[in-house]
Amino acid sequence: MRTLKVAIQKSGRLSEKSLELLKTCGIKVSNGNRKLKTSAKNFPLEILFLRDDDIPQYVEQGIADVGILGENEVWEKDKNVSIIKQLGFAGCKLSLAVPKEENYTDVSYFNNKKVATSYPNILSKYFKEQGVKVEIEEIGGSVEIAPSIGLAHGIFDIVSTGSTLLMNGLKEVEVVAKSQAVLIGNKDLDPETQTILDKLLFRIQAVKNSSANKYILLNAPNEAIPKIAKILPGMKSPTVVPLAKENWSSIHSVVKEDEFWDIIDQLKEVGAEGILVIPIEKMVF
Ligand code: ATP
Ligand code: MG
Repeated sequence: MRTLKVAIQKSGRLSEKSLELLKTCGIKVSNGNRKLKTSAKNFPLEILFLRDDDIPQYVEQGIADVGILGENEVWEKDKNVSIIKQLGFAGCKLSLAVPKEENYTDVSYFNNKKVATSYPNILSKYFKEQGVKVEIEEIGGSVEIAPSIGLAHGIFDIVSTGSTLLMNGLKEVEVVAKSQAVLIGNKDLDPETQTILDKLLFRIQAVKNSSANKYILLNAPNEAIPKIAKILPGMKSPTVVPLAKENWSSIHSVVKEDEFWDIIDQLKEVGAEGILVIPIEKMVF
């Protein structure tokens, strides 16, 4: 029987979240004794544990059908694969930074300077677009120490909170790109494998929907229901259940996480009470 071969990072920032994603999709995998390959127990899926740098190549060649990794690594390797879905975790920026005492005005600062990075392709493309001539010093890691040891004038690296930059006496001066984890796929999947992938994508979408939404319950006098229904459209319309207390109802609906606080304020204004908000585990349309 066919299986979908999924490449994920062996050990690093993406490993746990990638396994977690599969788990919340109801796929059981054991990652015992550091094997390089494992099969799911209840879904036609195999997992290959790889260095994230190698995933684009393996997916291009069809050794893996799909892979989970940072967009930054996909851009850098520039292989012939398709980006199927943004997964919404492992968000970070790719930024240029210089020693904090430098007087930086704009990107022309870098003309005829040296920049250290592990992402030479993304960086040289950027400077070409900006019309700036730079020497790129490719190094594998610990990029942020390059200026203090005299290896380069500036660096180009992943930044999330900026605390590593600060600790090394650097300041962020340009955000070149924003990255997150993505699912990439081979461009030539056979129909059977594609069917398994579609099943997985359906589940991933249900999980993504659920984390972006909350279930909300509240009590309100019946005369407030039309106003509340306007504030709370829900998936179709809110569910209204009568309460034992006369002329009062319990109203249930789904709200978007990012609209949540606004909605609560509006609901209180029209007379809602006892508002409960509950996480949703899966959400299927
Ligand atoms: P590997 O050994 O697999 O090559 P790595 O050292 O290249 O691992 P990690 O440091 O584990 O990679 O990071 C993996 C990915 O996590 C990055 O490519 C990036 O997309 C994402 N990421 C998110 N936030 C950060 C961060 N603060 N620092 C580094 N990477 C981050
Ligand atoms: Mg890597």
